[in-house]
Amino acid sequence: MKQLIIIKYGEMTTKKDNIGLFLKALKDNVTFALQQEEVTIEYDSGRMFINCLKNNFESVLIRLKKVFGIHEIIVGYELEKNDIEFLKSSLKELIENKEFKTFKIETKRSNKKYSLTSPEISKILGGIVLQNKENVKVDVHHPEVIIHAEIRLDKSYLYFETYKGLGGYPVGTLGKGLLMLSGGIDSPVSGYLAMKRGVKLEAVYFESPPHTSQQAKNKVESLARILSSYNHDIKLHVVKFTEIQEAIYKNIPHEYLITIMRRMMYRICAIIASKSNCKIIVNGESIGQVASQTLTSMNAINRVVNIPVIRPLACFDKLEIIDLANKIGTFETSILPYEDCCTIFVPDHPVINPEVIKCEEYESLIPFKDLIYQAVKSREIIHIKEYDQKFEDIL
Ligand code: ATP
Ligand code: MG
Repeated sequence: MKQLIIIKYGEMTTKKDNIGLFLKALKDNVTFALQQEEVTIEYDSGRMFINCLKNNFESVLIRLKKVFGIHEIIVGYELEKNDIEFLKSSLKELIENKEFKTFKIETKRSNKKYSLTSPEISKILGGIVLQNKENVKVDVHHPEVIIHAEIRLDKSYLYFETYKGLGGYPVGTLGKGLLMLSGGIDSPVSGYLAMKRGVKLEAVYFESPPHTSQQAKNKVESLARILSSYNHDIKLHVVKFTEIQEAIYKNIPHEYLITIMRRMMYRICAIIASKSNCKIIVNGESIGQVASQTLTSMNAINRVVNIPVIRPLACFDKLEIIDLANKIGTFETSILPYEDCCTIFVPDHPVINPEVIKCEEYESLIPFKDLIYQAVKSREIIHIKEYDQKFEDIL
């Protein structure tokens, strides 16, 4: 009997024709996540099997919990045969040192030619447990232990423990998106959710030195680094926004500062997205959160680009977003108190129902096309490599 890790795929299995591509991508992503571990990886259309050559189960598990496309992670036992006598004796051996009072057996038979049905196998294995453990009972509703038996073509598996994976699709299977990454709480969470649906991210950060500091930029780099632990690596485009912001500030009625500023950001993102082969823009906007996120504002801002803008948090409450930020490990970094370029030129009374015609009229007061061209051209690109963490750091 060999102990190993088994991965269940979940939603991906609905991809009938493309399943091969999805599984290959998952295998690549798992291989990447486990590059510091000694393992071998095999897979078929139902399961992925990971042999931990150095008994490094714990650290492999922790890393797998950060790979999208995994529905469930199992630490189980592989039996080199699938006949019922072999299953019985193996189960007897496995439960010897296991303490529990109630249990149930769940059997899955991918080998449909097997001579026994799943309920029959469960019954036989249940009998083995009852014969060999004192004072244990079957409880099908709230068992302390679920004993899983899986019968495959020429092998079988027994396992007790299962862990929830992140779900979603393997990063990269849906192409690339450009995340507008500020130092705030929302945008890293929105990036995480896009990655969960298989989108590989690049990111763009607008800075306004000297109005924004090096620490603010470092903070965004740290956030990108945390996100890269789910995404392999992230290309972070840092765009100098100072000249544009100053031009807006000097020439445009202040109630429209934010609206126009965001229209400029969108335009720049659309250009960078096209240069980087990103098919969508992703951002942390949430309906109604601030003046620039009313429906009228979103409409006035969004219309300057053709590329789809995906807002994973559009319908989330702030508290739900904070919950997720804590779960994915970005919250503590996000709340570090460094200013963002959006917060330094905030007018007292930003317009909540901006008119498109006024936006266009005000924009004609500044040479924004040249400024945008310069901002894109002079951007700095930082390659943030995979979260190069040792196991001890993750703990
Ligand atoms: P966050 O939304 O990240 O918590 P925030 O709430 O301060 O930050 P908003 O003013 O709500 O930011 O901006 C909405 C979205 O616009 C952000 O979620 C982010 O995607 C994008 N954004 C704002 N500022 C910047 C910036 N300096 N660089 C890149 N993207 C930005
Ligand atoms: Mg926000």
